[in-house]
Amino acid sequence: MTGRHPDGRNRQDTGLAPLLREKNAAEGPLSVADYMELCLAHPTHGYYMTRDPFGARGDFTTAPEISQVFGEVIGAFLLENWREMGAPQKPALVELGPGRGSLTADIWRIAEKAAPDFCAQASIELVEISPVLKERQRETLAHLDGKINWHDSIDDLPQDRVLIVMANEFFDALPIRQFVMDKCKWRERGITTGKNNGFAFTFLPEKPELDLPKRVKDGAVFEYCPAAAAIIEKLAARIKAQRGFALVIDYGHAEEWAIGDTLQALSAHQHADPLWDPGERDITAHVNFAVLRDAVRAAGVYATEIVTQGDFLRGIGIEDYAGNLRKQATPEQAKDLILAVQRLTAASEMGRLFKVMGFSA
Ligand code: SAH
Repeated sequence: MTGRHPDGRNRQDTGLAPLLREKNAAEGPLSVADYMELCLAHPTHGYYMTRDPFGARGDFTTAPEISQVFGEVIGAFLLENWREMGAPQKPALVELGPGRGSLTADIWRIAEKAAPDFCAQASIELVEISPVLKERQRETLAHLDGKINWHDSIDDLPQDRVLIVMANEFFDALPIRQFVMDKCKWRERGITTGKNNGFAFTFLPEKPELDLPKRVKDGAVFEYCPAAAAIIEKLAARIKAQRGFALVIDYGHAEEWAIGDTLQALSAHQHADPLWDPGERDITAHVNFAVLRDAVRAAGVYATEIVTQGDFLRGIGIEDYAGNLRKQATPEQAKDLILAVQRLTAASEMGRLFKVMGFSA
C-alpha cells in the first residue's frame, strides 16, 4: 500500500522510516524480526515507547481493558493456586508487559478482599520497556506505591521469591522471523526500501539455519519468534529454581507447524499495512503456543494443555462470578457485564482465537 495517511501527513518522511531506509542502504534488507523490533521498541520512534495505545480512542483493546471481571476471576484463580502450593511466603506477583496496569490492579483488588495474608507479603514486579506505559502503570497502581518494582527485562526479577507470573498479550508483541517456501526451498523474508519511500518484502541472502518442514506448498509461510522462545526458557528455569507458576494468554495457535502469515498491524482498531507508517502502528503476530509449551517441558517444568480463552474462563467460573455481580448491579451495569463475558468467551469473539497455557513447579 502506498499513499498518504488518512490524516494527510505522509509519515514515511519522518520518524522511523528514514532510519530504516538508511539501514537498508547500508546493510541490505532487514529481517522481519529486526523490522518489527525497531517499529515497536526503537528508543525514540518505537510504537510502544511513545504512546498509550489502548482504549476506544487508541489502536486496540485488550481483555483487561474490556472488563475488570477478566482480572478478578484470574486473580481468584491465581490465589487458589498459591494456597494449593501451601501459601508460600514472599510471593512475587509478576506481570510481563502490563500495558495500563489494569490486570495487576484487578488481581490485587481481589487479593485484598480474599487473601490479605498474600497482600501482606507479596511484591509486585512489572516487566515493561515503555517509559510512557510505565508512567501509566504508576498512575493506575498509585495506591500500591512502595510494593512495585519495575524491570526492563525478566533477567532482573528477584531471585529469592516464589514467582506468580501473568502475561496477557505480551508474547504477540515480540519480533518474529518469517520463512517462505519459494520454489521448493525455504527462504527468510526480509524488508527493503520500495517504491514511493515505502517498504516491500524481499528475501534475505542467507539460507535459513532452522530445520523447517519439507512438504509444504510454494508460498507457505512459517513463523518463528526467537525472543518468545528465549523468554519462556528463562522463565521456566526461574520457576523451576524458585517455584511458582505462570499463565500465558494470547492470540495464537496450538499446532507446532502452523503455516501462515500472521504478521498484522492495527491502527485505530482497523487492520493496516504493517509496512506502512513504521513505528506508528501496532505490529503483532500470532503466538505459537506449541513452541512455548515444548520449551517449558524441555526445561523439566510441568505445562498444561493449551486451551481456548473461552474454555479457560468458563472453567474458572467467569459466568457464576459475573452472575453474582449482576445481582447487585444496575440494569445498565448488568447489561455491560453480559456483553463483557460474551466478548471474552464467545467463539466468534475472543473465546476461540485466544489461547491459555499454564506452567508450574
Ligand atoms: N498486558 C496488557 C498490555 C498488552 S500490550 C494488556 O493486556 O492490556 C503489550 C505490552 O508489552 C505493552 O505494555 C508493551 O509496552 C510491552 N512490551 C512489548 N515488548 C516488550 C518487551 N520486549 N519487554 C517488556 N515489555 C514489552
